[in-house]
Amino acid sequence: MSGETRTTCPYCGVGCGLVASRAAAGHLEIKGDPAHPANRGRLCAKGAALAETLGLEGRALYPEINGRRANWAEALDHTADVFRRTIDEYGPNSVAFYVSGQLLTEDYYAANKLMKGFIGSGNIDTNSRLCMASSVAGHKRAFGEDVVPGNYDDLELADLVVITGSNAAWCHPVLYQRMTLREPGAPAPRIVVIDPRRTASCADANLHLAPKPGTDAILFNGLLVHLARTGHIDQDYVAASVAGYEDTLAAAQVSAPDVESVAAACGLDAQEVWQFYEWFARTERTVTLYSQGINQSRTGTDKVNAILNCHLATGRVGKPGMGPFSLTGQPNAMGGREVGGLANQVAAHVDFGDAAGIEAVREFWKAPAMAAAPGLKATEIFEAIGRGEIKALWIMGTNPAVSMPGGDAVRDALAAAEFVAVSDCASDTDSTRFADVLFPALAWGEKDGTVTNSERRISRQRNFLPVPGEARADWWIISEIAARLGFGASFDYRSPAQIFREHAGLTGGTSGPARLFDISDLAEIDDAVYGALNPVQWPLARGAGSQRLLASGEFPTLDGRARMIPIQPAATVTADAKRPLILNTGRLRDQWHTMTRTAKSPRLTAEATEPVIDINPADAGNCALEEGALARIESDQGVLIARVHVTEAQSQGSLFAPIHFSDRFASDARVGSLIVPVCDPISGQPELKQTPVSAIPFDAAWHGFALSREPIEIIGADWWARAQAAGHQHTEFAGNDVPEDWDLWARSILGELHGGGEWLAFGDKGLGLYRFAVLRGGALAACLFIAPDHNLPDRQWLAGLFAESILKPVDRMALLTGAPAEPAGDQGPVVCACQGVRLGTIEAAIADGNTKSVAALSDATGAGATCGGCRAELTQMLKTHRQHLNSAPMEALAESA
Ligand code: SF4
Repeated sequence: MSGETRTTCPYCGVGCGLVASRAAAGHLEIKGDPAHPANRGRLCAKGAALAETLGLEGRALYPEINGRRANWAEALDHTADVFRRTIDEYGPNSVAFYVSGQLLTEDYYAANKLMKGFIGSGNIDTNSRLCMASSVAGHKRAFGEDVVPGNYDDLELADLVVITGSNAAWCHPVLYQRMTLREPGAPAPRIVVIDPRRTASCADANLHLAPKPGTDAILFNGLLVHLARTGHIDQDYVAASVAGYEDTLAAAQVSAPDVESVAAACGLDAQEVWQFYEWFARTERTVTLYSQGINQSRTGTDKVNAILNCHLATGRVGKPGMGPFSLTGQPNAMGGREVGGLANQVAAHVDFGDAAGIEAVREFWKAPAMAAAPGLKATEIFEAIGRGEIKALWIMGTNPAVSMPGGDAVRDALAAAEFVAVSDCASDTDSTRFADVLFPALAWGEKDGTVTNSERRISRQRNFLPVPGEARADWWIISEIAARLGFGASFDYRSPAQIFREHAGLTGGTSGPARLFDISDLAEIDDAVYGALNPVQWPLARGAGSQRLLASGEFPTLDGRARMIPIQPAATVTADAKRPLILNTGRLRDQWHTMTRTAKSPRLTAEATEPVIDINPADAGNCALEEGALARIESDQGVLIARVHVTEAQSQGSLFAPIHFSDRFASDARVGSLIVPVCDPISGQPELKQTPVSAIPFDAAWHGFALSREPIEIIGADWWARAQAAGHQHTEFAGNDVPEDWDLWARSILGELHGGGEWLAFGDKGLGLYRFAVLRGGALAACLFIAPDHNLPDRQWLAGLFAESILKPVDRMALLTGAPAEPAGDQGPVVCACQGVRLGTIEAAIADGNTKSVAALSDATGAGATCGGCRAELTQMLKTHRQHLNSAPMEALAESA
């Protein structure tokens, strides 16, 4: 590459702008783009580590048929042939596409057009179904169209930000910083966090409400009742712009008649509930930010509408500093919604049921076989495959064998499917293992197109890396298949710009009620303008204003009014004697989805090298689980094994497990294996936040770990996890079968690593302790430790030895004693991924007494100085320290002073 390339981050829905360039030393540099309106130069740790994830290891570089290398013509011919024969024999609904919010809009558009206009089925759905389908459904019910009214500036203008069902500090870090780190002199907003967990987003909160899981709708129904009772309904707005107010209020009064009953139902303190309600009632500039904690629910759509009801009742929609704000999880979840990538949409915000709109799309596409009805949604697609009704599936840019709920049913379906094609940039994922045909797709940095972020902002994702191997753009692969199915004239695409123009043209060419999603101003742009396109928010039609929508009180419904929706909260999922805990799931701060990219960066894997579950101390005691031990989590459907982290941040009665781990990184860590696929009946979004589970210690006769410069083979372990750490591989394992000869076993585990090296070994059969190390040229090549329980040597100390070119005698000895000669103390987990600053260093600086602010702490330790993504944790640690000082006895305070 030459010069700088402006592009967009491939991870979360914030959609940060980036600048990619080559440093003088020749390596790639990725920085935040100061000119991009979403982030104004900021980046989180994931974005800042992008350059570390671009290597070709693990990339799909050539097409494959049944695991053997094929050429493009063979792979495309074979796939098209299977799809054609299947459609001819069983009809268009016997095939399906399962696509992704990782696809660019142009890819998404081509896939949707092929399925819905040419194959003639609605069977294209997306992993965004798992992410924000409830918000889409909620928006449509309330506003008449899937519209996010506000923009990111509103988070800076708001006086009150309500964060509910979102750990924005970790999952949308740059946006979180925008709301909490305001310009000097600008007043800080009041922040209320509603979350059963005390997450990093609580660090800056004035109030944290931790309701019982599943009671969100009661809480917001109660807010509506409180607004009405205290005279804070905007009567003029409701009269002019809203339908359904009376019925909605009456329904809310049934489930949430007063603050006390809300508090009792939600398990909250009544005074705190009242405080939240009062702040909301009295703060005009209020934004309610919500995400997966609301959406990923069997009643997610109702929860969304319970929130929207409160904003409609107060007229706080689409005006500066106020409005409901749905955060999208993926970089192009919004783009997928725009092209119609959900099975219940047609295209360009035209829905099934809108006969005139469908006809307009058909006419625009010159479509020979327009789908007449919605297709199957994500979970339904895999169920239909399991029943043999869908016979050919094409997965694009996603990993459903990990991310879908339903235990092993999805894997069983993929194994039993007559034909599975997978387009992916990674060659070995849990899903590519089921592929009859693997298409090597371009990855971020190689592909070119557009994405839309959570605030409706369309940005270019530009290529700046050479195409590796025979990888191809997704839109090209789709077009080639379309041509082989006989639709070449309609898929004669030569560039993403050509597709984008067509997509933009379609948004202005549909009839029926006026739709706000209209970017037809971009339908005629030439390639150069497309290439240089700056980030723009839609709508972009006939000079329409686009920063905020719906502020006028005019809604895209037949009568122009919004709808308040009466909500009767469903009963919550309850634990019982057999499954006494409720499992909650979500993201880690530094990982993305199934880690196919982020796991390549040691800086990012440092946060969690193995699957972990968070559990409250009381529950840990009840379940006989210790910090650092392994736990076996069971649901009625499956099993997960993870390391125990005991924390007060986790509410009693619930567990938290991260979603990221797949079979590539751990033996039994897919949260999807535990989750029963119960879906919201309106949105089809699965319930991923509430699964009854039990937790017991994982029984193992031995525990161990190995650190090695090269990957090792895992033999004879009943559980394992592995991660790429800085300069070495980190592997944890545990088992029940005790090898007869540990030395022999250790040599086989370390494989070639031990051959030709210096072998150090220690064993104490009575204590069950074994330690092994291989040195090459005096440097540590690998070490392996075994103990009868999880109390094993300090991994950080050992990891540090890989940096030594020749081990000192004292360190060689320490390898065999299992403890450093001069104990530095366990510094705990990494808090700052960018600078690798650990908890112990930060705690020491705080205890020092000279670091009373985040800025001072950052100066002293380096933590938070780069991307700032850990500032929420730093704030929380300072707060906790201050609380500790304030609660300390007088003598202790005098001492610390
Ligand atoms: Fe990427 Fe982080 Fe920005 Fe999200 S917040 S778009 S992950 S840099």
